[in-house]
Amino acid sequence: MKIAFSSIFLMVSILLGAQTDQNIYDIINAISEERLKKDVQTLVDFGTRHTLSDTISNTRGIGAARRWIKSEFETISKGCDNCLEVFYQKDLVKKGENQRIVKDVMVVNVVAIQRGTKYPNRFIIMSGDIDSRVTDPNDFTSDAPGANDNATGMAGALEAARVLSQYKFENSIIYVGLSGEEQGLFGGQGLAQYAQDNNWDIIGVLNNDMIGNISGVDGVVDNRTFRIFSEPITTAETDPETLASQARARRFYGGEVDGTSRQLARYVFKTTQTYMPEMNPMLVYRLDRFGRGGHHRPFNDAGFAGIRIMEAHENYTKQHQDIRTENGINYGDTFEHVNFPYCKKLTTVNAITMASLASAPPSPTEVSIGGIVEASAKLKWSKVEEAKGYKIYWRDTTSPTWDHSRYVENITEFTLDGIVIDNAFFGVAAISEDGHESVVVFPNKILR
Ligand SMILES: [Zn+2]
Repeated sequence: MKIAFSSIFLMVSILLGAQTDQNIYDIINAISEERLKKDVQTLVDFGTRHTLSDTISNTRGIGAARRWIKSEFETISKGCDNCLEVFYQKDLVKKGENQRIVKDVMVVNVVAIQRGTKYPNRFIIMSGDIDSRVTDPNDFTSDAPGANDNATGMAGALEAARVLSQYKFENSIIYVGLSGEEQGLFGGQGLAQYAQDNNWDIIGVLNNDMIGNISGVDGVVDNRTFRIFSEPITTAETDPETLASQARARRFYGGEVDGTSRQLARYVFKTTQTYMPEMNPMLVYRLDRFGRGGHHRPFNDAGFAGIRIMEAHENYTKQHQDIRTENGINYGDTFEHVNFPYCKKLTTVNAITMASLASAPPSPTEVSIGGIVEASAKLKWSKVEEAKGYKIYWRDTTSPTWDHSRYVENITEFTLDGIVIDNAFFGVAAISEDGHESVVVFPNKILR
């Protein structure tokens, strides 16, 4: 089955006058709980996927695991006229790089690119992790099933590839299994560097890490809430002078909570509310869990938008634990604790977000705002060649989400009558012919 994504949507939207896209509902229905379950089981069966584990065996260790993931992507590609470019992206990390690298190791990521029809060099990326660990981060031989952390994210990326590869999109999609996460985010660093070296234009990275636990250590059981972690602003502002001037601009014009990763997080939130209203997406205004890390961070460090999608209620007796029973508690990240209906829902959140973003035009590169000591805010933005129109968004300064909008066509500036610049935050998104929206851009210039 091959469907030209946009033309079908156009037909449906004309017929029904709908604002939603039937293809997105079809994608929701196509994500398979059974396949996710099977893939997590396969990954668990490699015994350990520790980054420093065996690479020779075909049944145990990270080598076997990554070869299986690569062959799985290749099988998916055969089902879509070879629509995926599948390859290993790897970097040698030397012994002593940090305390968790106790020997030289090749950190190998498995990458699958579904090339966009119009923008082959623009990418929306979904990542999961290949590697796993037990209590001692340097124990690379003990059984480390890593069922939830993070076979669920890896299985999610494979399943999203199976479903989305049946469609064509204007932007490219990358599905990737990263390695070296538990040893210090090495796989993400490697791929972020590779992206910079190859001038990838990255729309955003959806990093999935633990998307299958619904029973919290606090006793809460919840199969609808999930967290979207995003850093407030980009931290890739290393030059002290630029840093100072950007901080000064934020002080007077705002933007403390409106970095590019935050806009991506809002996009996931909105897409979920539109198409999966039964879910409770939860925006968390921080890079990651308190003091802890994940594989979106190296992308943020390189200046790319990236967020973490994960369960809302963690169970620490299952994470990074030797498999054992202690005081009646079963420790260990084993298969039977993964909730697959939930893992399916979070995989679906990724798939529909990527389908929407991969169908959207680029965001305007420049957005200016004015209206100081005037009754109305003015916005002006750079023209996006391929856009049919634009959506001007605004929200109360205390609101986390873009609550108000105004659609316009054929213009690149607009005055929002009676909306006072002081009392809201503003942004602009580009809209395609068939209604798909880009990520919102917060003003990056002042209109004088
Ligand atoms: Zn972990």
